[in-house]
Amino acid sequence: MSMNYSLRQQKAAETVALGKADMLVVTHMPNVRYLCGFEGSSGVLIVFQNKCTFITDGRYTEQAKQQVKNARVAITKGAALAAAAKLVERAGYTSIAIEAEHMTVGMAAGFKRLLPRKTRLRHTRGVVEQLRMLKEPEEIDRIRAAVRMGSDLLETGIRATRPGVAETQVAAELEFAARRAGADGMSFDTIVASGVRSALPHGRASNAPIARNGFVVMDFGVILAGYCSDMTRTIHVGRVPTDSRSIYEAVREAQQAAIDAVRPGVTVAAVDAAARTVLKRAGLARYFTHSTGHGVGLEIHESPRIARGVPDVVQAGMVITIEPGAYVPGKGGVRIEDMVLVTARGCEVLTFATKELVVV
Ligand code: ZN
Ligand code: ZN
Repeated sequence: MSMNYSLRQQKAAETVALGKADMLVVTHMPNVRYLCGFEGSSGVLIVFQNKCTFITDGRYTEQAKQQVKNARVAITKGAALAAAAKLVERAGYTSIAIEAEHMTVGMAAGFKRLLPRKTRLRHTRGVVEQLRMLKEPEEIDRIRAAVRMGSDLLETGIRATRPGVAETQVAAELEFAARRAGADGMSFDTIVASGVRSALPHGRASNAPIARNGFVVMDFGVILAGYCSDMTRTIHVGRVPTDSRSIYEAVREAQQAAIDAVRPGVTVAAVDAAARTVLKRAGLARYFTHSTGHGVGLEIHESPRIARGVPDVVQAGMVITIEPGAYVPGKGGVRIEDMVLVTARGCEVLTFATKELVVV
C-alpha cells in the first residue's frame, strides 16, 4: 500500500480552482510532505491545475530524487520562493494562492515584490489541512503502529515513577525506551507533572522531584514513519484520598462519555459537550480548562479541534484524541487521553493502556 499523492494533489488543485487561483504555493513542510512525499525541512511545492513542481536547493538534490512523488523537481541556487516567482512570470499567472496561516508577513511581502505587478496573492486557509483530516488506509496503519509503540511505553513511565525522582528522569526513561523501540523521535516535549504541578495542563517535565503523595500526569507520544501518537495517563503516588479518587473517576467517566459520543455526523462541539456535561455534574466543569481533543497525523495537533463553537462534523476516517481533564489549583490534576479512529458507526479506541487508577 502507498500514499495516494496524485489524488491528494488533484483535490488540492480543485479546492484552489474553486477559489479562483491559478496555482497554490505550499510552504508548510508537513503539507508539502503530504502532497508529494518530501520529508526534508526546506522547499516549496507549487500545485498547478494538473501538475506539481517541487522547488528546493542543492542540499536536498538526492533526497528529493528519492522521495518526491508525482511532481517535477527543480533545484535552485537561490531562494525557493524566488524560483517560484519566476515560474509565475513565465506562465503569465495573475492569481496565486498562498497558505495564509503559514507564510509570514515578511515572506509574503518578499514574494509579492518578486512577482509581476498585476499578480494578486490570495490568502487561503486549511486547503491541505482539510484533506489531511481524513486518513487513508496506509496512514491509519502507520498511526496504529505509532499508537502501539506509544502505549507500550507507559509501563516504563510507571516503573520510573517514585517519590524523589526528578520528573525529567521519568521523561528521560520514557524517551530512551521510545528511541530503543525505533521511534523517529517524540511527537512533542514529554509532559511529566507531579503533585501540585499536575494541575498545570501543559507542565513539561521539570527538575522537581516526584511528590510523596499525589497525581502524576504523563502525556507523551512518538513519531513513527512520520506519524504521531499522543496519549495521557494519570497515576497516583501513595495512598489515594477520597476526593482525589472522585476527581479521577469523574474525568474517566467524562472521557468515556466523549468516546461514546464520537460517530459520523455529530459535530465536534457535541463530543466536547459530552465530556463537559459529566464534569459539570461532578462540580468540576470550571477545572476543565482546555478543549476535549484534536486531530493527529503527520503533526501532533491537526484539524479538527474538538471544542466548543467549532463547526466541523465528525467523519469516518478521522483520527482524533479524546482528552478531558480537571486541574484543581494547589491540589493536583487529572487527564486521560486516548487516540480514536472514527469508523462508519462510531469509533475504535486505538490506545490500549488501562484506565484504572494505577497507584505506585
Ligand atoms: Zn497528549
Ligand atoms: Zn493531545
